[in-house]
Amino acid sequence: MRVWIQSNSKSTSLAIQRQLRFKLLQQHIKISEEYPDLVITVGGDGTFLSAFHRFSNQLDHLLFIGIHTGHLGFYTDWQDNELDDLVRLIVQNQKKIIRFPLLDVKVSYTNGHQSHFLSLNESIIKRVSQTMRADVLIDGHKFERFRGDGISMSTPTGSTAYSKSIGGAIVDPSLEVMQFNEVAPINNRVYRTVNSSLILPQKQILTILPDRQTDYIVTVDNLSYDHCSIQKIEYQIAREKIQIAEYRPKQFWLRVKNAFLVN
Ligand code: NAP
Repeated sequence: MRVWIQSNSKSTSLAIQRQLRFKLLQQHIKISEEYPDLVITVGGDGTFLSAFHRFSNQLDHLLFIGIHTGHLGFYTDWQDNELDDLVRLIVQNQKKIIRFPLLDVKVSYTNGHQSHFLSLNESIIKRVSQTMRADVLIDGHKFERFRGDGISMSTPTGSTAYSKSIGGAIVDPSLEVMQFNEVAPINNRVYRTVNSSLILPQKQILTILPDRQTDYIVTVDNLSYDHCSIQKIEYQIAREKIQIAEYRPKQFWLRVKNAFLVN
């Protein structure tokens, strides 16, 4: 087994990274950055997102584990004082593999170029300033004319992040769905949007056709692309999934309670 440990730059996380590396080497586990079988992140959910994007071209064989050095995260279940337990369970290799849905993001630019991304949390399109105007299509049929700040599409695991802050539902990640959320839509007697979250199933494609402008921002998780001239963005649930190594059972709704309800 080859393991890579990705840490954020905080001194506490770097110290945990060093300790973990030492403990893994003691068990004759190889440390490999290029082609790991297991990526262990040390930090918060943000660190986990960075590791996901760094290794998103190796998702078919790669497992992820998150250790948190701050507050409990949604992708980071292990505490920094549990390294011995974690290493023992890695050596014993008795795990369940949990797969979470990802969002497939296809961006077409007005110059004819295309970009393709996978998102673990969400992708947002908005304008640098002024109202964004766009047609929203579901499976090629016009659904609404949107006016407002922007549009967010999120995965189930991303539903506890930005999507929740803009009023989206929290979605159990065992459901293979994607969530559409409007960001500050304009609704009055002249302009009308659905003004509600939409939960869309596998294979449906949600397309955004923005008015021709040059100043769109497109985000994919913690990545941001500024001043884009977008012709259209197509969102659907990706064929790829992220695979998490689960060495002990955990309950999603207990984590939601711990993150948002219990002090
Ligand atoms: P960031 O500073 O890395 O993260 C912002 C906060 O979102 C952090 O507290 C982070 O937790 C938390 N977070 C990330 N993924 C989460 C998830 N799946 N469920 C619950 N909380 C989560 O911000 P960034 O680099 O700009 O963007 C990374 C992500 O942060 C984005 O994908 C977005 O979902 C989220 N974000 C949320 C808001 C908001 O709610 N208004 C604003 C900006 C970004 P950790 O502290 O554990 O890293």
